[in-house]
Amino acid sequence: MMSSDARLPYRGRFAPSPTGPLHQGSLVAALASCLDARSQEGEWLLRMEDVDAPRNVPGAAEDILACLETHGFVWDGPVLWQSTRLDAYRAELDRLLDMGLAYGCACSRKEIAERSTGMAMDGGLLYPGSCRGGLPEGVAPRAWRLKVAGEISFADRVQGVVQQNLPEGVGDFVLLRADGQFAYQLAVVVDDAFQGINQVVRGADLLDSTPRQIALQQALGYPEPSYAHVPVVTNLGGEKLSKQTLARALDATRAAENLVWALDFLGQAVPRELARAGLDEVWAWALGHWDMTRIPTCRSVVGKAMQECQAV
Ligand code: GLU
Repeated sequence: MMSSDARLPYRGRFAPSPTGPLHQGSLVAALASCLDARSQEGEWLLRMEDVDAPRNVPGAAEDILACLETHGFVWDGPVLWQSTRLDAYRAELDRLLDMGLAYGCACSRKEIAERSTGMAMDGGLLYPGSCRGGLPEGVAPRAWRLKVAGEISFADRVQGVVQQNLPEGVGDFVLLRADGQFAYQLAVVVDDAFQGINQVVRGADLLDSTPRQIALQQALGYPEPSYAHVPVVTNLGGEKLSKQTLARALDATRAAENLVWALDFLGQAVPRELARAGLDEVWAWALGHWDMTRIPTCRSVVGKAMQECQAV
């Protein structure tokens, strides 16, 4: 099935953060992005998002790569490590500053809390814009922010049309944090453009980040990729599976079953007999039958227990 985006060749990616092992939730994002790319003869790249140094868990990146391999994933070219890209992020931040689209901010958390005009959609405080007009002589910036304006709208291939008013929803957001770390939003946009990614398929937990990323693409003069946000796996309490919610690492000895489970989660019409098939057979079926229109149009779905799916 062709995507609605006619730009070819298709180039997609999977971009895990090495904050823990691959779990059911990250497998779903990896599989959806890979199948969508491969079923359209596209390229599929891997990027290790280790930009947020304090959150990296030693050994997690290597574990993720090994686990992907065990599950039969094959990516194009070498892995791009964000930790090697800091000069590029710096250069693009400087360009935004030169264009007057970003600015240094000296506000402490306390100052933001005192002046904030409301809540941002992620539950944090909206930045009141205190430093937008420039810093007084001798005051050093702590963080750097993008100036946002207006509404961003895009047509997501799974979720439909998404609109967000950036000043009301997120405010001027951080590009380089007070602790010296580049923000995910800047790194992901610079790298997607650098790698020539024109199709982003990822978890819907990032849906609210996409308008910020599009605003950055517009500011930096980058092309806008097509987006597809697939539902994230939640536990019965509605929490996204993550290291914080103690998602279990995937059992690599059950790779074929894990893939069948993920296909079922993604709404694909998995035939009963696939539950007992080997890895090659599962991949062959998945590549031949990938249908994005079957993916549930919602942000999250409670994951069925692996055993339930394996028993079909
Ligand atoms: N590194 C991000 C994560 O693991 C995903 C980034 C993306 O796909 O844009 O949540």
